[in-house]
Amino acid sequence: MRTEIASLGEFGLIRHLTDGIQLQNKSTLYGVGDDAAALSYPTDKEILITTDLLLEGVHFDLTYVPFKHLGYKSAVVNFSDIYAMNGTPRQITVSLGLSKRFSVEDMEQLYAGIRLACEDYGVDIIGGDTTSSMTGLTISITCIGETDKGKAVYRNGARETDLICVSGDLGAAYMGLQLLEREKAVLKDNNNVQPDFAGKEYLLERQLKPEARRDIIQRLAEANVLPTAMMDISDGLSSELLHICTQSKVGCRIYEEHIPIDYQTAVMAEELNMNVTTCALNGGEDYELLFTVPIADHEKVSQMEGIKLIGHITKPELGCALITRDGQEFELKAQGWNPLQGEKES
Ligand SMILES: [Mg+2]
Repeated sequence: MRTEIASLGEFGLIRHLTDGIQLQNKSTLYGVGDDAAALSYPTDKEILITTDLLLEGVHFDLTYVPFKHLGYKSAVVNFSDIYAMNGTPRQITVSLGLSKRFSVEDMEQLYAGIRLACEDYGVDIIGGDTTSSMTGLTISITCIGETDKGKAVYRNGARETDLICVSGDLGAAYMGLQLLEREKAVLKDNNNVQPDFAGKEYLLERQLKPEARRDIIQRLAEANVLPTAMMDISDGLSSELLHICTQSKVGCRIYEEHIPIDYQTAVMAEELNMNVTTCALNGGEDYELLFTVPIADHEKVSQMEGIKLIGHITKPELGCALITRDGQEFELKAQGWNPLQGEKES
């Protein structure tokens, strides 16, 4: 079944998609339905705002990404940015640019994903806009969150001797993307072939349904560890670490052997004849947290589940480098540290 968006009109569509939203946060005084939403935050909080613009053909490919997954991911990547500030996401606005290709049913699916993410993470949808577009689907989500006064963690606070930590494992989302691209190419040549994803479910999940690391933020708070610098890994470990080092005016050493990589990621990299460390360093879309802590917190973080110590911060003169398993030193670059660097799509 296909219902044209024009049959509902812009306001009708928004009403339809946001129907029945239950507000979950005290700070949301009024959500969808007026000229603006109304929020009220206590004075002992700092307010965090982040925004993300996703374009069809640039950030997502609807030939293999279902609308519901796309909606979920669009919301979660914004939550991830709020957690990366040591905050809690509370509200989002959702704006869509839609061409005539899309139906009301497509948008219901997209919104079902966004609403599921909001329920899972306790976030209110408080507004947005839709408009017609000439060029496919555009999704813009703005997220508002909070943190206790003085507890926001920036990228510029890393100090010499701090330890560098990452949550989860890296490179899997990139391998998931490679897998989807490969199957898409196979399907193009032969429509009768069924995609072969057996044993690679984790990679697909990491690409199609990423989660934000709320659990890590909670664990750090419970252990009374306040990172000195933090960000989420959306563009690859290498590039994010360089952001922290540049903004903190420090150098770093990370160790190849300590970079957390899942078994399925390693198998897939081998299958594609890619260097798995390069994938973990440059893959992107992991939405894990990269942070630094004072060396005094070594014992606390080394015992924390889901966190790996991968290196340490140095004086700026030493630059930023990866130490390989055989002891060689490679300067970290935003994309690639070896001849394989050309393999990453920009
Ligand atoms: Mg970020």
